[in-house]
Amino acid sequence: MRIVVIGGSAAGLITSLMLARAGHDVVVVEQDSLVPAADVETAATVALRATAPQVVQPHILLALCRNLLRHRLPDLYMALRDAGVVEAALATQMPPSLADRSAWPGDEQLMVLMTRRSTVDWVLRRWAAAEPGVTLHGGVRVTGLIAAPGRPPHIVGVGTDHGELTADGVVDAGGRRTRLDRWLVAIGAGQSEFRWAECGLAYYSRQYRLRTVTGLPGLPTTRIVSAFKEFVAGIWGADHNTMLLALAPLAADRRFRGAHHPEVFTAVLRTVPTLAAWLDVLEPISDVAAMGGLHNTLRRLVVAGQPVATGLHAVGDAVCTTNPTFGRGLSLALRAAVDLVDVLDRYPDDPRAQTLAMDDAVTAHIAPWYGDQAAADAALLATLWQSVLGAAPPPATPPIRDRVTFAQIRAAALVDPLAFRAVWTLMGALRGPAEIYQNPQLVARVQEVLRRGDIPRPMVEPSPEQLLTALSTVPTGAPDVV
Ligand SMILES: Cc1cc2nc3c(=O)[nH]c(=O)nc-3n(C[C@H](O)[C@H](O)[C@H](O)COP(=O)(O)OP(=O)(O)OC[C@H]3O[C@@H](n4cnc5c(N)ncnc54)[C@H](O)[C@@H]3O)c2cc1C
Repeated sequence: MRIVVIGGSAAGLITSLMLARAGHDVVVVEQDSLVPAADVETAATVALRATAPQVVQPHILLALCRNLLRHRLPDLYMALRDAGVVEAALATQMPPSLADRSAWPGDEQLMVLMTRRSTVDWVLRRWAAAEPGVTLHGGVRVTGLIAAPGRPPHIVGVGTDHGELTADGVVDAGGRRTRLDRWLVAIGAGQSEFRWAECGLAYYSRQYRLRTVTGLPGLPTTRIVSAFKEFVAGIWGADHNTMLLALAPLAADRRFRGAHHPEVFTAVLRTVPTLAAWLDVLEPISDVAAMGGLHNTLRRLVVAGQPVATGLHAVGDAVCTTNPTFGRGLSLALRAAVDLVDVLDRYPDDPRAQTLAMDDAVTAHIAPWYGDQAAADAALLATLWQSVLGAAPPPATPPIRDRVTFAQIRAAALVDPLAFRAVWTLMGALRGPAEIYQNPQLVARVQEVLRRGDIPRPMVEPSPEQLLTALSTVPTGAPDVV
């Protein structure tokens, strides 16, 4: 099949590589340039794109993403490693409070990749450009869909600002801001089914390089993200001795409006002793990058049992976005890419069956994460609104017997090795949330830990006074990026 992929970011390029290797002829249309930078560090410097601002924010590639890359695109996986992406064993993520630090069978499935997102995209661009079945059109914007008449319409190509491209199938990898619904309406089709739930956080992050590799406060592959009473903060290890720190307050919390100033950002992070210790050994190498408008979203191309169009598929953020602090975006993008390749292989001549099968795949592999994250974020937001904005406390939900929540498992994971693995299995999207939340052995262990109480916190949080003092830091405006 000749397939046009709309969008040449992570989801679009990974999907294109997989489709080309399955024998399809793939054309990628990306509105921004697809020319890779000269090297990894230049790539980091020029990574920020208004069309995909998340690429400069901290990323981790979690278990499902790593495992699918290794099995489906092993050469790309090796290229990422060669480019400096760091493989981190599960043991490197163990909190100091976890006494049982022995290796368990299956731990190797939970390994993660630590990297700047720009490094991943740099490798992807080079790999896609070298792939015989992939043609890249950078600097070309898709303006609409071309459809053959029918009910539902069958997509036979795309219009672009450089002319039309015909295709046997079109894949929307246009990200969270895709114009797909507008294009569907323009050809007389119905809109997709789109659900969303508030994430409610604003993201501020900065990139650093280690000044030294000795005497560090922890491993350079450290990733700790902690939800405090008034904000979320975290640290991510990455490639080439870089690390990223992030601050995620409530988007509605005006006290943090100066957090894009390096002085304010640093002062707030320094109120957290763990992060202060890291800041002592880190040199900033970027400005503070800010991002808002974060939602959990889910798009379905089958509405009331009927495809909105045939010959049209979607992958990546165009299908689903979830709270970034959980780092599942690229895992779900890869999952959808694999599903698409399999579906096209199973139903090569039946576009309707393809669309329905892809929707089944969304039900099985994507939708559970949207639902889980929407519920978890509603609970987190209610807590933050209460402590920051003085909102009424969230209604107490009666505990469900024989079931635990992600927040409970995460608390227990600080001391219990089974709960620790459950957290990384959930984060890594290796097994569905419902299956894990109701695992009898896990439920018993988590409830026992919670009953005993006295659970340490992953990071000590500042007092309200310390936070206010940090937030009142006056920016000097002097650049401190080296
Ligand atoms: C703050 C933050 C942190 C995150 N952290 C993680 C993490 O730790 N781990 C993880 O796995 N995921 C993480 N994610 C999610 C991850 O970034 C996304 O899932 C991923 O970028 C989605 O890739 P994509 O290709 O679908 O979309 P995008 O990267 O948004 O790319 C869409 C592309 O389509 C192009 N495009 C759009 N419309 C058109 C058009 N009309 N014509 C041509 N081109 C078009 C755009 O220019 C863009 O290049 C994070 C997200 C955020 C916001």
